[in-house]
Amino acid sequence: LTMSLINSSGFMEIAIIAHDGKKADLIDFLIKNEAVLHNEKIRLIGTGTTGGKAEAAGFKTQRMLSGPLGGDAQIAGRVAEGITQMVFFFKDPLSSHPHEADINMLIRVCDVHNVPLATNEATAQLLLDAIAQQL
Ligand code: PGA
Repeated sequence: LTMSLINSSGFMEIAIIAHDGKKADLIDFLIKNEAVLHNEKIRLIGTGTTGGKAEAAGFKTQRMLSGPLGGDAQIAGRVAEGITQMVFFFKDPLSSHPHEADINMLIRVCDVHNVPLATNEATAQLLLDAIAQQL
């Protein structure tokens, strides 16, 4: 990547969000990539339940509200403000969600600000592999 993924504070903040049907996949993905994710320059934030599961798996994670209560919207705000540099959003395409409007808003804000957004594991892995080269 030619773009810098480090924010003005010298960190790369990655947001993690997983719908219920994808939470286990996301945690497995984090564990698989723990060598990179435990780098001191990387900070994780997440929606409430996802963040709690990441914490339980040993990943320090700043927790926002749960997704349906506004967590996606909080993360979108951080993307808009340039605080969050990357979003891993393991969406479940086979279930419907009460906060669909917030989900679409987060995706839109990432596109407005050209912030890398992975909505599935394959893309997230490619992004992390790119990050590993910048650390
Ligand atoms: P959660 O939110 O991590 O609090 O479950 C994610 C979501 O379902 O949007």
